Amino acid sequence: MDLTDLRPNETRGLVCAHHHLYSSLARGMPAPPRTPSSFREILELVWWRLDQALDLEMLEWSAKLGALEAIESGTTAIIDHHESPNAIEGSLDVIASACAEIGIRSVCSYGVTDRHGPEGAVKGLEENARFLASGKQGMVGIHAAFTCENETLVAATEMADHFGVGVHIHVAEGVDDLDVEHRLEDLSQDNWLLVHGVQLPDHHKLRGTIIHNPRSNMNNSVGYAAPQRFHQPVALGTDGIGAAMLDEFRVAYARAREHDIAATPETAWQWLEGGYQLVPEALQDRVIWSEGPMDPWRLAFHTNIRPTSVEINGEIVLNNGVATRVDAEEVRVKAAEQAKRLFTKLDDMP
Ligand SMILES: [Zn+2]
Repeated sequence: MDLTDLRPNETRGLVCAHHHLYSSLARGMPAPPRTPSSFREILELVWWRLDQALDLEMLEWSAKLGALEAIESGTTAIIDHHESPNAIEGSLDVIASACAEIGIRSVCSYGVTDRHGPEGAVKGLEENARFLASGKQGMVGIHAAFTCENETLVAATEMADHFGVGVHIHVAEGVDDLDVEHRLEDLSQDNWLLVHGVQLPDHHKLRGTIIHNPRSNMNNSVGYAAPQRFHQPVALGTDGIGAAMLDEFRVAYARAREHDIAATPETAWQWLEGGYQLVPEALQDRVIWSEGPMDPWRLAFHTNIRPTSVEINGEIVLNNGVATRVDAEEVRVKAAEQAKRLFTKLDDMP
């Protein structure tokens, strides 16, 4: 980040390179039917139940709440990865519109999967195509290789090539996805987002940017991705646990330091800056923080800095910590109502 034209308490807009805006309502959700004992069970008992319960109204307020919290955290661009198997068509428009309403930049994709049979995969592909054909900012999403047939992986790759965009895919997050390197070896491109990469070997053959989500990896007990071992670019994401990127930077640093006593905040800061290769427009955005200087060595140990003002594409979207385009209180109230609907639905699921 070239900070030369910025004041000491300013940065460019921060980028969340992997988010799931559909998860904003999930906090405090009903406990799963039993306690998950593996990453696979966390998916099956928590996230794959949640995504099935989502409808477009819940998604709208989940995305608005997530986008609002992002600007309140100094984040000006979100690369989102979405799944709502019972409300696929139009879902990316709902997310993109919610982000536009708050005033944040978004890059949307639908995570294609064969988990709901070949028809489900086709519907997911169609949603990516429909959205991209409308000219909005997006990528082609794939949930993960281990939930997709090869023909789905190839179809998504061809679609991304057709639209001139990359593929946004979870890669080797857990041990269920160990053959991903082999399966994507002839498909991946430099414009792909390889999310997690925990189980990838150091010298893997996949192409793309590694998206590191340290807090999520710790929460899912999948191990440490140690992205400093890879030769390719790295950017930071939250995997749906908010969009507070200064916070994610701190976690990335602390986790790296736990792994290696010589690790420095500068490395984690470089990962945060990796987001500008993906959404260069965020370099035009400005965030004024409650105090400076915005030095990685200082920020890694200072947990009380917050944005006072955020400017995106020349417009002030957060002023004195308050969103300018929407009534933040109303967004929180409406989101809480939808969370209640969601929790009732989850309680009623087998
Ligand atoms: Zn994810």
